[in-house]
Amino acid sequence: MIMVFCEQRNGELLNVGLELIGKARELARSLDCEVSAVVCGHNVGYIGNRLIQNGADKVFVIEHELLEKYTLDLYTESLYQLISNEKPDILLLGATSIGRELGPRLAARLKTGLTADCTQLEIGQETKLLLMTRPAFGGNLMATIICPDRRPQMATIRPGIFPLPSMDANRKGETILFNPKITREDLRVRVEKIVQKIRTVKDITAEKIIVAGGRGIGSKENFELLEELAELLGGVVAGSRAAVDAGWLPKELQVGQTGKVVKPKLYIAVGISGAIQHVAGMQDSEYIIAINKDPDAPIMKIADLGIVGDWKSVVKALIKELRNEKG
Ligand code: FAD
Repeated sequence: MIMVFCEQRNGELLNVGLELIGKARELARSLDCEVSAVVCGHNVGYIGNRLIQNGADKVFVIEHELLEKYTLDLYTESLYQLISNEKPDILLLGATSIGRELGPRLAARLKTGLTADCTQLEIGQETKLLLMTRPAFGGNLMATIICPDRRPQMATIRPGIFPLPSMDANRKGETILFNPKITREDLRVRVEKIVQKIRTVKDITAEKIIVAGGRGIGSKENFELLEELAELLGGVVAGSRAAVDAGWLPKELQVGQTGKVVKPKLYIAVGISGAIQHVAGMQDSEYIIAINKDPDAPIMKIADLGIVGDWKSVVKALIKELRNEKG
């Protein structure tokens, strides 16, 4: 069985769980096995159907009043109890802040290995083992990791790597309620209050057009020109880590291995060299335009259209053209 931990926050499923169910279905075809989904919480049984419609054969609903708010102690213990019972061959979690702290703790309790932040998952043709691929050595090479001796084979996967599966309203499956044996005494940390951070920047993973700037942009003020271009195109601004580290953009707008993975219809990379860690976050964009003064910049190799020149004059010309078009 392939098991996917599907995170819910305030009763809302995170997309990454659904993305992983989609991928798990594909892997399950090579293994000829079931796909199960797990949700944890209090009164969250209604989510089961949605997970079945998205591809789960079985949904385990870990239900307990103490699970109403997320706590690391109780989530770890409850999931550990379920996994020890069900013994899945593979366990997938989203590499969200919660998945990233649950994954290693579960792996330690289950005495198995965990490959974190995978960007690709496959089943070995002969071995039938899960091949977990992730960037290694600062992204300079891709390492494929296996877990031959221990079960489950565990991986965390960043949100946005795999597409959302299509929904089938007629799909049938089984929802199983699981009551973990947990008590208040298992809690070492008590959550008093959850304060929601008000999002002031857009979620770039949902955008169709992204104008991304890098170190070549030169200053925070220069980003205003990119804002103008993005607005005319109906898109948003994002950037490379160099732009974020320079304090020109907030971290939420960073694209790449340690930022967000985006797949817009149009990605315009302005003054970005195309380091492997940046490319890891945008290479699946439908159409890539690179604007760079260096014709040999690595970004040119993956661009559908490369414009060689000083970014400012190119962007100003584009803005002028778009303004003319809009009248
Ligand atoms: P540079 O590499 O300095 O490139 C600037 C580009 O601008 C050059 O190609 C130059 O020709 C061009 N340019 C300069 N002036 C002009 C001009 N006037 N007109 C036109 N073009 C001009 N990077 C990320 O982006 N995202 C990540 O998530 C990320 N994660 C990382 C994780 C690790 C573990 C490590 C080690 C690195 C990571 N990096 C990441 C950093 C990455 O290796 C690069 O350092 C970074 O992407 C470089 O950003 P840049 O392309 O903006 O800057």
